[in-house]
Amino acid sequence: MTIRRVAIIGLGLLGGSIGLAVKARSPQIVTTGYDRSAAVRAEAAARGLVGTVHDTPEAAVKGADLVILCVPVGAMEDAARAIAPGLKADAIISDVGSSKQAVAEALARALPGHTIIPAHPVAGTEQSGPQAGFATLFAGRWCIITPPEGADAAAVETLADFWRALGSKIELMDASHHDLVLAVTSHIPHLIAYTIVGTASDLEDVTESEVIKYSAGGFRDFTRIAASDPVMWRDVFLTNKTAVLEMLGRFTEDLTALQRAIRSGDGDTLFDLFTRTRAIRRQVIEQGQDDERPDFGREHGT
Ligand code: NAP
Repeated sequence: MTIRRVAIIGLGLLGGSIGLAVKARSPQIVTTGYDRSAAVRAEAAARGLVGTVHDTPEAAVKGADLVILCVPVGAMEDAARAIAPGLKADAIISDVGSSKQAVAEALARALPGHTIIPAHPVAGTEQSGPQAGFATLFAGRWCIITPPEGADAAAVETLADFWRALGSKIELMDASHHDLVLAVTSHIPHLIAYTIVGTASDLEDVTESEVIKYSAGGFRDFTRIAASDPVMWRDVFLTNKTAVLEMLGRFTEDLTALQRAIRSGDGDTLFDLFTRTRAIRRQVIEQGQDDERPDFGREHGT
């Protein structure tokens, strides 16, 4: 199947970036879009995020070969129900949601009989909204496709080709395994960042101005993650509950072990762990997942 027309529902960071990436890398594909917010639709049209911005979801998906839902995971089911009347019978319906099992179930409930192939581009920033999107967001990043059991292989390959054309690397994964992997690589790190930044701002003996003033000691790197969109992340934790709680249990045990090591002066345990984690950072850089320059390449003035 050839994708000639793509409809994007939700024109924020992810939806806008897909529109711009298609324009830059697959210009033969016609793009249409819809967002529930009139202000976002106006901004999307002004920035040219998609070829045509429509005022209803039904109009946006008319004639589309591929529809990608780019709304918060808690809004997927409503967004899917709203496009149903306009869908072509053989359209592929996909999404970019950060948790996959709950979204797959929501889409199956909303669109019975349709070809649903969920996906998650593991690419993003702490920004959101129609201003935040950019064409190179997916270049060199993984896109994890989680085909439901019995999914049409040709539709999976068509979706994979679409993402490859935007510069993504493709991995196929079971939705429940995706949720476990992302719980530890993305969801728990966000939870830790939200916690440490929240704790620091609630302290009584250390003032908030001191926390901000001395943030270069490490705190500021957590603040980038903790600035991520509150709606998106609330929904991620509510929909990936099982995997997050399982990983959080493991994390809490490991934290308790470190607490014990510090209390008992067990330097070997601390040293061994810190040596292992340093090696992980080297692998992240070697596999092209981050900038190799010290301190993320920040300028250090004299
Ligand atoms: P975003 O910038 O906030 O954009 C989402 C847009 O969807 C907003 O304009 C929102 O409008 C709109 N929307 C909400 N409900 C809708 C509905 N029922 N119908 C139509 N539009 C609706 O969010 P994002 O960062 O692009 O995230 C979108 C999805 O991508 C989420 O599922 C997220 O889990 C996933 N994702 C995000 C990242 C990341 O780093 N941000 C990375 C990978 C995947 P309102 O503002 O009016 O609510």
